[in-house]
Amino acid sequence: MADVDVLDLTVLDRWLRLFAASVAEQKDTLTALDAAIGDADHGANMHRGMTAVVEALDATPPADPAALFKQTGMVLVRSVGGASGPLYGTFFLRMAPATGGAGALEPETFAKALRAGVEGVVARGKAEPGDKTMLDALAPALDALDAALAAGESLAAALRQASTAADEGRDATTPLVARKGRASYLGERSADHQDPGATSAALLVGAAAAAVAGP
Ligand code: ADP
Ligand code: MG
Repeated sequence: MADVDVLDLTVLDRWLRLFAASVAEQKDTLTALDAAIGDADHGANMHRGMTAVVEALDATPPADPAALFKQTGMVLVRSVGGASGPLYGTFFLRMAPATGGAGALEPETFAKALRAGVEGVVARGKAEPGDKTMLDALAPALDALDAALAAGESLAAALRQASTAADEGRDATTPLVARKGRASYLGERSADHQDPGATSAALLVGAAAAAVAGP
């Protein structure tokens, strides 16, 4: 099937389900990363949250993208303990109004909504890129997405580039000393470990790229 060039409910639903599947598959890896610099629950947290998100999609299919993002954010806030629940929850809650109530999102609208989500994570968690958090994957992904769309790339190509940037941002967290979250309690000892939240955030961007590349 051909790449899609707008994000309607079918594509956005697929994005969330693909993310849930990646999290399920990588649960033990995410937890192992968190065991090294946190409290060994990131895989379990994200798996619990995304399982609940998929259950909610099945039980109450949203009417439009804004409703899908709002429901997802609320479910994550409700079902995930720890820092990542409110942060991922805020991300999706902030995406909802940025859709402007559209039934299908143009690539630029999706990029704008993602940026609103990331700004919500910043407002809530007070982290900046370089603090060894999920933002180290999300921020470069959004910059790559905007740049690719501005250069006239297709949605699929732009999200592939965003996914590569997220993976690079994730990898670049390894040498960093954590300045936010539980890992920051370790100070210098947090260096030489990949950040768990940046790792799950790279899965989120990778799932978006996979969702537009067709089923
Ligand atoms: P907790 O740290 O409460 O156990 P998780 O283990 O689920 O929660 O999530 C940890 C991840 O959350 C970290 O790897 C980091 O990427 C992210 N994180 C923690 N604090 C912040 C923050 N203030 N801003 C952005 N991301 C953060
Ligand atoms: Mg943890």
